[in-house]
Amino acid sequence: MRMDKLLANMGFGTRKDVKKLMKSGSVHVNGEVVKEGKIHVNPDLDLVTVFGEEVKYKPYIYLMLNKPQGVISATEDQEHETVIDLLLYEHAMYEPFPVGRLDKDTEGLLLITNDGQFSHALMSPRKHVPKTYTAAVRGEVTDEDITLFKHGVTLEDGYVTKPAELIILEQGATSVIKLTITEGKYHQVKRMFEAVGKKVLSLKRLKIGELELDHNLELGTYRELTESEIELLL
Ligand code: URA
Repeated sequence: MRMDKLLANMGFGTRKDVKKLMKSGSVHVNGEVVKEGKIHVNPDLDLVTVFGEEVKYKPYIYLMLNKPQGVISATEDQEHETVIDLLLYEHAMYEPFPVGRLDKDTEGLLLITNDGQFSHALMSPRKHVPKTYTAAVRGEVTDEDITLFKHGVTLEDGYVTKPAELIILEQGATSVIKLTITEGKYHQVKRMFEAVGKKVLSLKRLKIGELELDHNLELGTYRELTESEIELLL
């Protein structure tokens, strides 16, 4: 792997920052000063130090994003800003992708990684990983809806949803709810409410498995998952 890429991956800044750092003579590979970013190193075999401190390469990156509305859950798009466009260079250069999708107008917890196995473990329909959302819904959500969601509702294409837990937080002409589902059909939450004659006005994901959205993350911001958060999801 190229030396400049490795250092940028390790959080030493942009390609330009890394170039400057290398020029300064602070980077050594197996004890020798290396000033050229294009030099290749083997992260498993070569000893890389910066200012005398060993640099350990990590192959995978795991991010928690508080996705804002108006941004799409894709890696590239001709027209719209994507969740990857929100990342700093030092994270984007891992070439990560979103774990599953949230609709363009949905906010909240979105995981982003370059670890395909991790993503698969969370997304596989066979794993039934629960996902919790909060929504504002037009119409009065009732106890009857709780029962219907518990037993499964029939979507417009005939699909019967798996048991879901619906909690009413505010009841009225517009209701506020919390919903936990264990599957991820296209527009599932919106379609479940349509099936009971109601409309989702806004939707936010709060939780995936045991991992909750960090309340300190403003919309559009993200942070790396901690080791224990990664373990929570595996
Ligand atoms: N259900 C939806 O309808 N939209 C989402 O973005 C996620 C779940």
